[in-house]
Amino acid sequence: MQASLEHLSDLVVVTDADLAPPGPRIVYVNQAVIERTGYDRERLIGASPRLFQGKDTCREALNRIGNALRRGERVREELLNYTSSGDAYWIGISIVPLFDDRGQLTHFVSTQSDITSRKRIESDLLLFRQAIDQSPSSVIITDNSGHITYVNNGFEINSGYSRDDVLGRTPGFRAWAPKSEIEKRAFWDRLDSGLPWRGEFVNRHKQGHRVVKRAVVSPVRDLEGNISHFLSVEQDITAEKEALSQLEYLAYHDPVTQMPNRRLLQQRVEALLHASFIAPSAALLLIDLDDFKRINDAHGHGFGDRVLQKIGSRLQKQLLSESELVARLGGDEFGVLLCGRTTDAESDLIWRLEALSQQLARPLNIDGETLLLAGSIGVARIPQHGRSFVTLQRNADLALYKAKADGKGGYATFTAELNVAAQRRVRLEESLRLTILRDELSLAVQSQFGPAGDIRGAEVLVRWLRGPEGVPVSPAEFIPVAEASGLIKPLTLTVFRQALEIAAQLKAAGLRIPLSINLSSDLFRDSALIDALVDLVADSVVTPDALMLEITESLFIDTHPDLLRNMSRLAELGFAFSLDDFGTGYSNLAYLKRLHLSELKIDKSFVDGLPQDEDNRAIVLSIISIARQLRLRVVAEGVETSAQADFLVAHGCELLQGYLLHKPSPAEEWLGQLMDGIEKNCRKGVDH
Ligand code: C2E
Ligand code: CA
Ligand code: CA
Repeated sequence: MQASLEHLSDLVVVTDADLAPPGPRIVYVNQAVIERTGYDRERLIGASPRLFQGKDTCREALNRIGNALRRGERVREELLNYTSSGDAYWIGISIVPLFDDRGQLTHFVSTQSDITSRKRIESDLLLFRQAIDQSPSSVIITDNSGHITYVNNGFEINSGYSRDDVLGRTPGFRAWAPKSEIEKRAFWDRLDSGLPWRGEFVNRHKQGHRVVKRAVVSPVRDLEGNISHFLSVEQDITAEKEALSQLEYLAYHDPVTQMPNRRLLQQRVEALLHASFIAPSAALLLIDLDDFKRINDAHGHGFGDRVLQKIGSRLQKQLLSESELVARLGGDEFGVLLCGRTTDAESDLIWRLEALSQQLARPLNIDGETLLLAGSIGVARIPQHGRSFVTLQRNADLALYKAKADGKGGYATFTAELNVAAQRRVRLEESLRLTILRDELSLAVQSQFGPAGDIRGAEVLVRWLRGPEGVPVSPAEFIPVAEASGLIKPLTLTVFRQALEIAAQLKAAGLRIPLSINLSSDLFRDSALIDALVDLVADSVVTPDALMLEITESLFIDTHPDLLRNMSRLAELGFAFSLDDFGTGYSNLAYLKRLHLSELKIDKSFVDGLPQDEDNRAIVLSIISIARQLRLRVVAEGVETSAQADFLVAHGCELLQGYLLHKPSPAEEWLGQLMDGIEKNCRKGVDH
């Protein structure tokens, strides 16, 4: 029996049954004990089994063993024991009392099996359980039919539901909205094939609010490899989502008006272009508020912002469906996407454009002030005028340019010719830049005559004799290009320099003929340029009274503070001003006095109809009478017939300018003829 015990892998320890202190002593150990504990047999025989125990050996378990042995009963326990070198190991111990023939207790036999690895698994499991229980994430375990068998504390805290609320239910009961059949299929297909599903759930908190969860649901297999449970670990990403949607909102909206911005407009237009079904026709509109800059300058940006907000909301009210959109593109530019049946036919579209224009032109009431605005609209049709947002935008922009050139407050639709015109503008701009740089612009001069045919003044007109095609380009074409590109500044400096040379020669010859120079009104915003012009005059032999500065009457000319300031400055220095193209703009007569004017020029379009056209006659007569009352000199321009000249002279117009009397001629030629006494010839013309 001893031999067979020696080969047992379990540990066998036999002690005597002496229960009086210090307790039983070891009388036998098998080989397994020696191997596991590291003690040799001599050390063990006669020793107390307490030798195997240590500081973490459970006292209660030892007491239970002691009590059982005293009663002569069998006992089973799990104990932590130690080897001779102090390493701990777990044993499952079972102790059996041995009795002799007379029933006398003689020994205790204990068999011990090493359960260290099982104990480790158990404590690992406990740790896992605690970790999961205490994790802030929500953990849900369902059985393989999807019914909840476990939820952790995190779940209870995050969802508001207690464990008892949910055990036995399916996790989907909290869904904010039911999942579609397709979504459900994809979810189960993935889990059934043994793969984890990752995604987001939108759930309802027990309190009713919406929570967004990022979740990983994984199948759990049993020992046979069958899916027995599903584990879902969820994280609350509601705040993250909100921050994200806030960011997204900011990325797609304009902070001033809270309206969609260019990016959103682009997305919507592109979605429309990429849709398999393109609406028969849609349209991209670009809207630019005319003279908005003036409002900002005059009333401040806060006021300007409110104007934009009001205009924006008016435009939005014109939308007819969810798929239409108004966006603020920046500055005073809005973009509108129109689609659906109302844009199918050209006539329908026009109806909508009219409605939009009307909204732009309706008086605005802001801070007790009433404003009159207008906006120009450029239209590109989708998809006819472009299959990309960039193209559509460019073409709508060309149409906008056309709308503005046709007179403010209107609309225009893109045509292929506009493209050609735009290309020409670009070419003109490039070429003009070089021309100015090479100082190749020249001047023509056109004389102005008094009723007696005497030269009283002359207008200098810029000439570009060799344009991009090698032929002259009219200032009517390149001046707007110069104004739009900023080239107007160097151009004006060039004109001034040359005009001053002519004036110097006139002065040297003892001729007092003031030279009129055209100034684009935008230049008056630019104090640095005005300084440069003043310096040019100061550095020359010419005094300001030898010049007349012509400014065009343009809408709102009166309210720009810089304009008034710079005009006053120049007037103080002795410069005189003439209001060109009078009658075509919208000048407020009350302001005319404040503009330091000394002359009005009746626009050629009114002179044209004289003397037959009754309206023109009335207009011209009233201009002459206004000028008289304001003590301004009147010049009629574009006089082509002697009938016109006679009418004008008869009604008190003091100065005449036009082809009848003199066609603009190159500056040197004009000067030369002047010196030769050309005056006499011209007088004949008037007499005729
Ligand atoms: P504007 O200031 O109204 O100049 C008068 C225009 O009418 C000139 O055209 C002149 O040649 C033309 N004209 C004069 N008499 C007659 C006539 O009897 N019949 C007809 N049909 N036309 C006549 P131009 O030189 O082509 O200039 C066109 C416009 O270009 C000017 O209109 C002015 O607004 C602008 N411009 C010309 N030179 C300058 C300049 O140096 N600076 C600026 N800023 N603008 C200029
Ligand atoms: Ca002029
Ligand atoms: Ca004019």
